[in-house]
Amino acid sequence: MKLDSKAMRHLTADDWRVLQAVEQGSKNHELVPTPLIEKIARLRGGAGSTRKSISALAKVGLIARVKEAKYDGYRLTYGGLDYLALHTYASRKHIYSVGTRIGVGKESDIMIVADDTGAQKVLKIHRLGRISFRTVKSNRDYLRKRQGGSWMYLSRLAAEKEFAFMKALRDEGFLVPEPISQSRHTILMDLIDAFPLRQISQVPDPAALYAELIAVILRLAKHGLIHGDFNEFNILLKEEREQQQAAAAAASSKGKDAESAASSSAADQESSAKVTVTPIIIDFPQMVSMDHVNAEMYFDRDVACIKRFFERRFHFVATEPGPFFKDAKKTVGKDGATRLDATVAASGFTKKMLKDLEAAIREQQEGRGEGGEDETARSDGDEDGYDEPYGSDDGEEQEEGEDEAEDNMSGPRQAEVDQEAL
Ligand code: ADP
Ligand code: MG
Repeated sequence: MKLDSKAMRHLTADDWRVLQAVEQGSKNHELVPTPLIEKIARLRGGAGSTRKSISALAKVGLIARVKEAKYDGYRLTYGGLDYLALHTYASRKHIYSVGTRIGVGKESDIMIVADDTGAQKVLKIHRLGRISFRTVKSNRDYLRKRQGGSWMYLSRLAAEKEFAFMKALRDEGFLVPEPISQSRHTILMDLIDAFPLRQISQVPDPAALYAELIAVILRLAKHGLIHGDFNEFNILLKEEREQQQAAAAAASSKGKDAESAASSSAADQESSAKVTVTPIIIDFPQMVSMDHVNAEMYFDRDVACIKRFFERRFHFVATEPGPFFKDAKKTVGKDGATRLDATVAASGFTKKMLKDLEAAIREQQEGRGEGGEDETARSDGDEDGYDEPYGSDDGEEQEEGEDEAEDNMSGPRQAEVDQEAL
């Protein structure tokens, strides 16, 4: 679903109150009855004003009326939830305008936004429950069983969990984006001016980068964590070129004739333009503890992902086998390493919440015919397969793109981006 913030400016204060009322009502009601919306919103204009706002909101798709319902009721759409989150960020002065979508991930939309100084940031909108309609038959029973609003609940959990981990990792000195703010099913973070490893065809030293990434896996393990989706889409590679002027200057002052001095200096300059690459890790909603029942499987899968990618892309094969889970397990909490799995668990995530989320992420992955790997469409051209989180079965979700399409996704970062003020 594409976030289109255009209608935001046309919403009145009453409309916002009614939208918030529908959100609040959906905590206990799958369909929020009109009288309840009225009661929560308490508009000065009473029932008439509430109705007017309801129809304004329904017209722009922020709430939806469910026709076959026994009673007159509305539910919030993803669009409505997006607007509420944006509204919150605007009131916190964290977001002033919304730019383009840079990514459609497996379970999210990634938008470039800006604050009022024009500084660009990334808004990640979690969209769990965005299941493939191709598998709707097998999913229908599951959807029926779910209580209303579970997509909202699960997407919010994903955002909260991701924000908590990003913060914990950042505080511990891991190279991850800076988490700025969180609201509902979204998180706001630093824009990393880098491309996913997926889009990089060459690196100066594959062996060194491989070693660095394996070291990240081991360092996470030491802190009690497994990334769980450690692959080429979730590793951004910052490339920095350092010109070593000193070497060039030395070459030109060797007392040779002018011409050869000039050429040797140019050659030296070229060979001494050192490129350093720094991996920055993203995407944390699926992180698991080293104590998880399937920890070994997740750990091995992360390691295998990196190995396979380095083999295919850079023809690099590590000489050593491993690393192995049993060895990593022995390091958990060693040398005074803080257990970040415990830190996050202590910040209010119950086992049930983590289980719910894990099940939802797994089902979503299975629904897309994936074995848990991040190999789905990343095309920016996905103009929607869904508008309704748990929609009717008349919609066909957009086919997942092929490999080639994935690489169009993320353009250069700090580029000119049309921003739509809120
Ligand atoms: P998903 O969970 O849907 O896979 P990700 O968090 O992995 O979502 O983000 C999807 C893509 O968006 C990434 O592969 C990356 O290209 C881009 N992206 C995400 N966060 C950032 C960021 N902070 N800075 C720059 N690009 C980002
Ligand atoms: Mg990802």
